[in-house]
Amino acid sequence: MKNKKFFVENLIKWNRNQNKSEMPWKGEHDPYKVWVSEIILQQTRVQQGLGYYNRFTRAWPDIRSLASAKEQEVYKLWEGLGYYSRCRNLIETAKYINRELGGQFPDKYKDILALKGIGSYTAAAIASFAFNQPYAVVDGNVYRILSRFFGMQLAVNNSKGKKIFAALAEELLDKSNPGIYNQSIMDFGAVICKPALPLCAECQLQKRCVAYQQKMVYRLPLKENKIKMRHRFFNYLVISHGGKVFVNKRTEKDIWQNLFEFILMETDNMLPDEEFLESSKFTDFIRSRNYRIDKISQIFKQKLTHQLIFGRFFHITLKTMQKPLNKYKMVSPKGLATLPFPKFISSYLKD
Ligand code: SF4
Repeated sequence: MKNKKFFVENLIKWNRNQNKSEMPWKGEHDPYKVWVSEIILQQTRVQQGLGYYNRFTRAWPDIRSLASAKEQEVYKLWEGLGYYSRCRNLIETAKYINRELGGQFPDKYKDILALKGIGSYTAAAIASFAFNQPYAVVDGNVYRILSRFFGMQLAVNNSKGKKIFAALAEELLDKSNPGIYNQSIMDFGAVICKPALPLCAECQLQKRCVAYQQKMVYRLPLKENKIKMRHRFFNYLVISHGGKVFVNKRTEKDIWQNLFEFILMETDNMLPDEEFLESSKFTDFIRSRNYRIDKISQIFKQKLTHQLIFGRFFHITLKTMQKPLNKYKMVSPKGLATLPFPKFISSYLKD
């Protein structure tokens, strides 16, 4: 319970003090505009959706204008957004509301949910933003944040998991400010607790986040068909000495056999940078060597058939080399370009 209170308070605090995302639909109370924005954003990145939202609401600022619009013009404006059934449903529902409900957008959650093309997420967003009703939005963002913060090792894509997450989301909802709470969690998932590269270092929830404390951030949320996926955590040391870099040829029966890589230190989890650099794995290897860390990359991810690889690159200059690194080969930057690397590394080198 204490953690739930902490979660809600800090989420709202983050939204109030640090959330900089300024979108035209934020703070919007017109159900029509909330609806249009939610439908556009369903399969579309916010930055791409923004222009469409502005053009759409400029061309048809309310239900009546959309209901009487020339369909071809609506589809034309939708061009490039894809998933045209969303556009078709917007037109049909606008006509229905105009014809059957006197142009008034319904204000009850269950009536909103009954409209064509509106699922529980969109209905909760409209009910809370436009009518301040206590319905929590639950989508992939929410599953991810809740499963990480509360350390819930429960698949989010089966009916049992969905029920449990939905109940928790309802319980956490700030009933006096459902719109603000929903906006906060949506933005928090888009800006801080992101799927691939969450910004844990600057996250206000970090000190009580179970996934962070137990180093499970990259394992959550769980998905049923992904449970059998093996997660691996690669730390590559890109060590240079005298203008050359150490590389290794992968010979074992494992992924990327016969391809080259840098010095690999695989760990059981993706440790924070500092923790990895202090781990015995790293210090035992580097101990007597005089070195400098030049750069640490962000974390990259690659999905293979049965494995999900997370990895990052530590660029290190060895100033002197007391002990030779016999196992590894030294190559010049020119030589590096001729070696076959797995895509995980070659894409990084190309960047
Ligand atoms: S610490 Fe990381 S995983 Fe936990 S809530 Fe914050 S961003 Fe998400």
